[in-house]
Amino acid sequence: MHRFQGSLFPVNAYLVETATGVVVVDSTLGVSDGRALRRRVDALKKPLAAILITHSHPDHYGGLTSLLDGADVPIYAVAGVNDVIRRDDAAKEQILRPMFGDEWPAARTFPNRTVRDGERLSVADAVFVVTDLGPGESAYDSLWRLETGGVPQAFVGDLVFSHMHAYLADGFYDRWLANLERAKREFPTDTTLFMGHGEPVTGLAILDWQATYIERFLDVLRSAVEMDGLQGDALADAVTVAMKEFLPSDDLLFLMRLSIEPMRARLDLRYGKRLANVAT
Ligand SMILES: [Zn+2]
Repeated sequence: MHRFQGSLFPVNAYLVETATGVVVVDSTLGVSDGRALRRRVDALKKPLAAILITHSHPDHYGGLTSLLDGADVPIYAVAGVNDVIRRDDAAKEQILRPMFGDEWPAARTFPNRTVRDGERLSVADAVFVVTDLGPGESAYDSLWRLETGGVPQAFVGDLVFSHMHAYLADGFYDRWLANLERAKREFPTDTTLFMGHGEPVTGLAILDWQATYIERFLDVLRSAVEMDGLQGDALADAVTVAMKEFLPSDDLLFLMRLSIEPMRARLDLRYGKRLANVAT
């Protein structure tokens, strides 16, 4: 198992090396990172047998075009992930082109094989089992367990951020919390979780940590809006201070900050009971 971390954007892809080939899980965001990932595959001197995609966010599939570099390789995803990637591609182009320029590929590549919940996929002597999670951290999530290798291992995408701040802007927090509960029920307790962001972790305690992070974010946001009447930068600053108390790190902090306004709208929070009381 090899972890590849993007340079353009801090996101992981994984290379599962078997006796006969390499299976890559996720592909990072940009053109240069996709190319570097391909070089890591080529350095193993085994064929790129398949690519698995965990969820619908562009930092996990944007590198596909340069990873493939024209090769005809099966790219597996559950139908919901494939559908959302294709559905949202035009909107992601509008957002990512100004941010990343030519690093966002001119022609995106999408999954070309779909799998069903619970399906076992045998590829290059490895067996993966996919779990279709539905909406969660992104508009459509899944995870892949590796059944070969002797110890329980799961590629969980962004179901869990490895002690980094989280992206909550898609708003499916209730489904995300349910997905964390599901993983807790279904994973063996000694599973090693390979996340989309940060270091792998063995054991399931981090699932509870992620749920607490989400709940803390919701509490802090509600209180800052409804009790303190904060908005705009003042709201973002207050939530940031509180979340940094929970997790004293700047890793992916900007993703949490980007989530504040969309989540306020999603929760339909009304500003400033406290201020309203003062006014009356
Ligand atoms: Zn991600």
